[in-house]
Amino acid sequence: MAERDLSSKLFAAAREVIPGGVNSPVRAFRSVDGDPFFIQRARGCRIWDVDGNEMIDYVGTWGPAILGHAPSVVIDAVSHAAKEGVSFGIPNRHEVEIARMIRDYVPSVEKVRMVNSGTEATMTAIRLARGYTGRDKIIKFEGCYHGHVDSLLVAAGSGALTLGKPDSAGVPDDFASLTMTLPYNRPEAVEEAFEKEGENIAAIILEPYPANAGLIFPNEGYLEFLREITEKHGALLIFDEVMTGFRVAKGGVQELVGITPDLTAMGKVIGGGLPVGAFGGKAEIMDYLAPDGPVYQAGTLSGNPLAMAAGIAQLKEMERLDGWQRLEEIGQQFEDGVRDALNEIGRDLTFHRVGSMFCLFFMEGKVENVDDVKNSDFDAFRKFFWSTLDKGVYFAPSQYEAGFISLAHAAEDIDKTAEVTRDALKEIYS
Ligand SMILES: *Cc1c(COP(=O)(O)O)cnc(C)c1O
Repeated sequence: MAERDLSSKLFAAAREVIPGGVNSPVRAFRSVDGDPFFIQRARGCRIWDVDGNEMIDYVGTWGPAILGHAPSVVIDAVSHAAKEGVSFGIPNRHEVEIARMIRDYVPSVEKVRMVNSGTEATMTAIRLARGYTGRDKIIKFEGCYHGHVDSLLVAAGSGALTLGKPDSAGVPDDFASLTMTLPYNRPEAVEEAFEKEGENIAAIILEPYPANAGLIFPNEGYLEFLREITEKHGALLIFDEVMTGFRVAKGGVQELVGITPDLTAMGKVIGGGLPVGAFGGKAEIMDYLAPDGPVYQAGTLSGNPLAMAAGIAQLKEMERLDGWQRLEEIGQQFEDGVRDALNEIGRDLTFHRVGSMFCLFFMEGKVENVDDVKNSDFDAFRKFFWSTLDKGVYFAPSQYEAGFISLAHAAEDIDKTAEVTRDALKEIYS
């Protein structure tokens, strides 16, 4: 086992002053029954912990690091911007530039507003949908994560159409009662909801490729169905592309599938590793926002010049390197390695990939929604996590998380990962 003494000491110290020792729960490694390591630095596809252990990283700061860690273009852009001032609270030119880029990249976006996190983006998209339609109810799907917004931290009730129940202490039942949580990939459930509540539903919000329950794809025709039924009932369709945006393709899932949502939430990759979110869509809807419209939304640090400069630099570099095409090639190599390893051990574990995002489920058979993921062998996953980590490869510490490949993952890194994966699987299944 790798030595992690300094990490252990830091974690003990952290727990005394930070709840659970972490500033975001998944970092606590609870789902793999262990303690997290503390990071010293990160560069390219590699990270080093404070004890000096080196790892090939497939978490990529949970998505943003699409060029790899600490890319020089982003560092240069941030340093340059910082010299002009780190925050103004007055418009700056970077805001216009990134808004134009997002409009050009993302098919459905005519206007966009920048915020500081994905959570803020989905929170405001929901408020805007309610303000625009004059309706209160929203539909979300089990297994889709949209940040820690009150009305989106709602689990399904016992029957598909019973009222939602809060998925966190501190979320009032009254809020949860406005959210219907339905199973993903089950059109009947959505039809039933619209039959019952049609004129009260402001919007459907979803991850078009759910990537916070492993990585799941919509069945043939499912997204088209959601587009049609929302249109028919005067509800908005909101794609949460915080994870998939600028990642699976330049224009996100909506570009891949050719479906135009009314609103899109964005984040992660567009911040270049700085705290950024955004939401955008049809101009007619976006103009409902203050100061032009009645829906209030604001932010002291929104459109921060450092964050905007980082995002602009990252997107430009992706464009310059034909990044999305290259990520597909690296992703294919990664997939080939995993599938070879699975063949070698004679297991048909379910593996999903789109471009540079992937998930290996520790189960066989189809995975269409989060109920399917619950059939995974979590014990095998846990063993796999610690075994690969010990061999120098860091995969996400939960079966419910996707993995991310970056442009900095070279062929040798992918080869090494395939080897480590095969060895770990052999240990578990022999
Ligand atoms: C990460 C994520 C969010 C929340 O973004 P934060 O920046 O963590 O607030 C929302 N939606 C999806 C799909 C995400 O993956």
